[in-house]
Amino acid sequence: MERKKYDIAIIGAGPGGYVAAIKAAQEGKKVCLIDKGHLGGTCLNVGCIPTKTLLANASVMQKIMHAEQYGIFVKEVSFDYEKMKMRKDNVVEKIRKSLEGLLLSNGIEIARGLAEFLSPKEIKVKGEHNLLIQADDIIIATGSEPLDIPAFPCDHKKICNSTSILEITSLPKTLAIIGGGYIGCEFASLFSELGVRVIILEALDSIVMAQGPSISESLTAAFKKRKIDVQTGVFVEGIEDVPEGLHVRLKGKPAVYCDMALVAVGRKISSDKLGLEKAGVRVGEKGAIPVNEKMETNVPGIYAIGDVTGQFMLAHVASHQGIVAAAQAIGQDARMHYNAVPAVIFTMPEIATVGMTYEMAVQEGYDAAVGKFPFQALGKSAAAIETEGFAQVIVDRKTGQILGAQVVGHEASTLIAEMGLAIANELTVECIADTIHAHPTVAEAWLEAALLANDTPIHFPPKIKKR
Ligand code: NAD
Repeated sequence: MERKKYDIAIIGAGPGGYVAAIKAAQEGKKVCLIDKGHLGGTCLNVGCIPTKTLLANASVMQKIMHAEQYGIFVKEVSFDYEKMKMRKDNVVEKIRKSLEGLLLSNGIEIARGLAEFLSPKEIKVKGEHNLLIQADDIIIATGSEPLDIPAFPCDHKKICNSTSILEITSLPKTLAIIGGGYIGCEFASLFSELGVRVIILEALDSIVMAQGPSISESLTAAFKKRKIDVQTGVFVEGIEDVPEGLHVRLKGKPAVYCDMALVAVGRKISSDKLGLEKAGVRVGEKGAIPVNEKMETNVPGIYAIGDVTGQFMLAHVASHQGIVAAAQAIGQDARMHYNAVPAVIFTMPEIATVGMTYEMAVQEGYDAAVGKFPFQALGKSAAAIETEGFAQVIVDRKTGQILGAQVVGHEASTLIAEMGLAIANELTVECIADTIHAHPTVAEAWLEAALLANDTPIHFPPKIKKR
């Protein structure tokens, strides 16, 4: 087996690992990036990018279906889902190729195979490349995979997980989605816009529960308006393939029948096949590798970033952690802060959040105020017939500091950036109110929400009646 020596070896070429590799290489380090699969990890190959490509098809469909509102009459609408899937595959393939070019242009060596620790400074790679790698520093960025559980036996044709459902070439009539988290809700939007009857089965009292009540209530209402059957407080016990279709068994309730089921009950951390015990790396609950704010594990010179740390499970957090870990490995000081992590759920309507919800702020002891502005009151939203949803800011009454923000509606994913910047830099509502926002744009919603937090709105009636 060939032996190679590097300054830094990185296991996993997802948005955590490849970003860390680029940062380290740009600082002059000899870097090896190891992956057993395609470059780009879950995000590029079976996550963010393919789902957003398919959702772009669905949003064109949605516009066409509502074209009459704009005075446009479309006689017959049809689509070919297989072609939509092919476009998705092409987009992914193109980005994969350009990512490889980007890595090579940075002088990063790519090793393709399964990596396993032999000691704290040695890794064996087995696969297309067979290597013994020695490195001064090692970054673990092996991510996560869909959680497959025996009660839901995925055959990847009728019972799918979030990876295999991306491979289907024709649509079912009825789809039951087990789990109303990020993944379940994004697929619910995608398939319902394409005419599939979608049933969400969620064990908790509401869908996207972690985002707080105002978001989950608003998404539930939007889903119901779109005829998505949202069933909460239902625990799915098992799925069986019977002659009538799929029989989805619910605890204490009548079963649900469907043509296809999507299991979206969370993700499993990928840390079990790494030989971590040979390196002495401690593993915590559910296989998560504990790290400090410098992304250091308990073993000096070994870092962990992204989903494998069990925190957040968001691509952009993994990338940021990758920068921090690479900086530490090259002797710079960098640390992670999690007070301004944006999160987007690409449903229809989109949802985006950053910082605290009102409930979190109160729990933390703040005297919190909410400034909530509905898109219905915004000129640009009315012009585009995109009036669903709202933008809201959570503010500390004492200092005016913005603690959190949530937005539901068209372009929420883009809008949240302004609040991310505001929270990361500890800005107050006055800073937002004093900033000139271009007119007519949907970003004006933040200006109005900031004014509303002080009950001084310009384009909305004040809560307290003025003289
Ligand atoms: P999740 O944990 O967000 O949601 C899973 C849901 O399944 C939970 O609400 C849970 O109560 C429910 N559930 C579990 N067992 C059940 C049962 N037997 N019956 C009924 N309901 C059941 O997990 P996910 O949606 O699979 O997403 C995984 C991770 O991927 C998330 O942490 C998320 O951060 C990430 N992700 C992010 C994005 C994005 O950023 N846009 C998109 C997709 C996924």
